[in-house]
Amino acid sequence: MTDSIYDTRQLRQQNLSRVLKAIWTSEGTSRADLSRHFGLSRSSISSLTEQLTTLGVIEETHLAASSGGRPPRVLQLDPDCCRVIGVDMGASHIAVLSMNLRGEIEQVLESDLACGEQPEEALSTIQTMVETLRTSKPLLGVGVAVPSPVVDGELSARILPAWKGIHLQAELESRLSLRVFVGNDANLGALAEQWWGTCKGVQDFVFIKMATGVGAGLVQHGKVLLGDAGYAGELGHVPISNEGLCRCGMYGCLEAHIGLNALQQYLPPQISTSDWLNNDPQSTKVVTGSIADALSVALSILVNLLNPHKIVLWGPIPQRAPQFVDALRQAMSTKNLWSPMRIDALQVSSLGEQGVAKGAATLLLEEAFSNPLLFAEMEG
Ligand SMILES: [Zn+2]
Repeated sequence: MTDSIYDTRQLRQQNLSRVLKAIWTSEGTSRADLSRHFGLSRSSISSLTEQLTTLGVIEETHLAASSGGRPPRVLQLDPDCCRVIGVDMGASHIAVLSMNLRGEIEQVLESDLACGEQPEEALSTIQTMVETLRTSKPLLGVGVAVPSPVVDGELSARILPAWKGIHLQAELESRLSLRVFVGNDANLGALAEQWWGTCKGVQDFVFIKMATGVGAGLVQHGKVLLGDAGYAGELGHVPISNEGLCRCGMYGCLEAHIGLNALQQYLPPQISTSDWLNNDPQSTKVVTGSIADALSVALSILVNLLNPHKIVLWGPIPQRAPQFVDALRQAMSTKNLWSPMRIDALQVSSLGEQGVAKGAATLLLEEAFSNPLLFAEMEG
């Protein structure tokens, strides 16, 4: 391919993407509006919208009110033209959901499984759950969130040694015959906040995942920071003391203080973490005391390093223990923060329990909205 043909194709793909995003964010728009907005000719816009219509991702709906002359046709996204599937592969559970192009969740399936230690069982369970959610609607693909850095579709053998040598992305693609993307769970939580949560339009923020593992999705200038080898945001392994053996083998990691396993010592027998957080006064004492204190140490470092506009907290503790955020704000107020930070900049995620799975599904949308030709490669 010559450079000029390549450039022309790339330019058309970029224009397709821009027009699709404009239609997606509008309630409905016309070719004339798009032409004015992008400074492209009516015939160029007509050609682009015709291609998006052929791809099935937009449709002509009603006639708009006329301002004189022939009333224009309104173009809208067809949010139900296909589905995306998101998988949250946690340390002790798997959640799988299907949703449409507006992020409206259709179905959720959940299963308890120690995924970190049982890769074969995790792969076959994910396969079964995804197959269960398949309907007659075309599928754009599957996004998978994992509690590990992801480098070229593989997980970190240091964090998940049982997964050494297993290429999660390739394995699932071959089992499902679907496009599969894999990403770190905290980074995908951050992506979900950007698309569907309280961080729409926010350029600099941090998403904190507080589960068995603890991680941070760091967003700077609107992009998730990956670092040199994809390991950025491993907040759970930042040392905050000399005590507490972490599963990584080191002492004093944040995760050893606030990860859900650290709560086991307080849990009465036969009580789940969620029930304990909901009902036991002892849980309030723990999460507003030692948990809030430990997290405030790590967050104060993070705030001084990154100066985020907002910090969003996700996981059972912030979502089930309402007093936790106030205690954390209080603990943060005693720290030496050089970056200005409003007290309400520390928030609980509005995305609910499926926030990370939703982020995993959004990975597919992000790719397809950048390259709408992927809509032509959907599986029925
Ligand atoms: Zn550690």
